[in-house]
Amino acid sequence: MILRCAVYVRVSTDMDSQKSSIAHQKSFFEKYIRDKGLELYKVYQDIESGISIERRSGLKRLIEDSDKGLFSIILTKSISRFARNTLEGLQYIREFKKKNIRFITIEDSFDSEEYDEFMFTLLLSMAQKESEKISERIRFGKYERAQKGYYNGSNPPYGYSKIGKDRLKPAGDITTEIVNLIFQMYIDGNGLYKIANHLNTKEYPTPSQTLGKSNSGDLWHQSTIRNILTNEVYIGNMVQNKTKTKDFLKGIRVENPKEEYIKIKATHEGIISDFVFEEAQSILKERKVNKSGNNIHFFTNILYCGECGSSMHYKKNKGAYICGRLNKMGKKYCKGSYINEEKLKDVLREDFIKRIKEEVDLARLNTKIKEGIDKRYKNKGQKEIEGQIKDIQRKEKRLLDIFIGGFIDEKEYTMKKKSIISQLELLQSKKNRLKLKNDDYKEQTMDSFDKLLEFLGFDDTVISKLVAKIQVNNKKHIKIYYNFSH
Ligand SMILES: [Zn+2]
Repeated sequence: MILRCAVYVRVSTDMDSQKSSIAHQKSFFEKYIRDKGLELYKVYQDIESGISIERRSGLKRLIEDSDKGLFSIILTKSISRFARNTLEGLQYIREFKKKNIRFITIEDSFDSEEYDEFMFTLLLSMAQKESEKISERIRFGKYERAQKGYYNGSNPPYGYSKIGKDRLKPAGDITTEIVNLIFQMYIDGNGLYKIANHLNTKEYPTPSQTLGKSNSGDLWHQSTIRNILTNEVYIGNMVQNKTKTKDFLKGIRVENPKEEYIKIKATHEGIISDFVFEEAQSILKERKVNKSGNNIHFFTNILYCGECGSSMHYKKNKGAYICGRLNKMGKKYCKGSYINEEKLKDVLREDFIKRIKEEVDLARLNTKIKEGIDKRYKNKGQKEIEGQIKDIQRKEKRLLDIFIGGFIDEKEYTMKKKSIISQLELLQSKKNRLKLKNDDYKEQTMDSFDKLLEFLGFDDTVISKLVAKIQVNNKKHIKIYYNFSH
């Protein structure tokens, strides 16, 4: 029986010398197989370039096929050519051996037939140690270099290109212009979403596309824009050591705590001025605060689209609410509802008056309100001022004691006394004004509900206590549900 061989070759476009070319490797193996009286099943190959991420589809297919009994020998140049490192190579080879596939390398004359499981375990543990050492060395080297302000990444940041191995300069092409555009648009008041949309419409190259990564990242996202806006590399600073490799073999990276970041200022030419960058940072901060709750608008959380049931969002530039679904996904998804805030307030006010008249004893309510106003002003405002007046009068007495005791001279005494008197006058007039206001309110009769509403105003508390839900349909028909009605 003639044994069938699979051959695995890997070449790098970075080293296109004759010796490492695919054709050369293939003809070498063909001759080798003929000489040994074997039969070639198939050549599996991977071609890698320096830029693209190593995908190794050839190796993947070889491993898949090794399950199918299509060949009984695998031939390749060296273990290091076959796998990313010795450890990974040995792990594969051990698996092949379990499937009764012999693994032979030419350059380092490795033959899996000569090794048993014990030897493999030994070799694997040695390789593991070696790889940890390498990883440690690389980590340390990178750290040292980062502290000197050298750029460690294999790919330059978007908008930059590399000088030599580890220095950055603005690329001076469209990517540099796009970085500028992003910052400009942002400080001009455009949001992340709007900027991403604009760049997508223009089909500007994304960071992933620029790196030549295939089938991913062909769209700009809000996160892409945010990453650019917050990266100090664009003002000429280098911030590195943000992540570290946790598992060197699997290439798993984890985030470092902020204290471990290495930041070196002015290592290269910036694309953005410090002023613009700072401006962008403060806008980012501001928007974050707004998002966390300061910007909740009047009817948010109680206003719903009568067509699709989504909650409605406030559009600041239009002073109106729009169905959230329509706003996000477009007309295809909701027939749409849209209502001006002022108009909604009017409708609600009118409806509220009508409903409250049906529900409430007007005379009794009026009396209660009067009592309430009286109590509120007397207790809160007036008492507070009276307390402050007493405090100052005490101070005045103490000042006199100090003066009599000879601790301050007359000049200082007069000065301090003047200040106390003016404070007292201020409080007294405040007290008088408050009393007048209180009397005014008491005189006002709450004989109409319009006046009552004017007094209450439409603040969030009123709305949230009385109105449970408001629905608006695409004909602007408004339906109001109150907490007090069934
Ligand atoms: Zn809707």
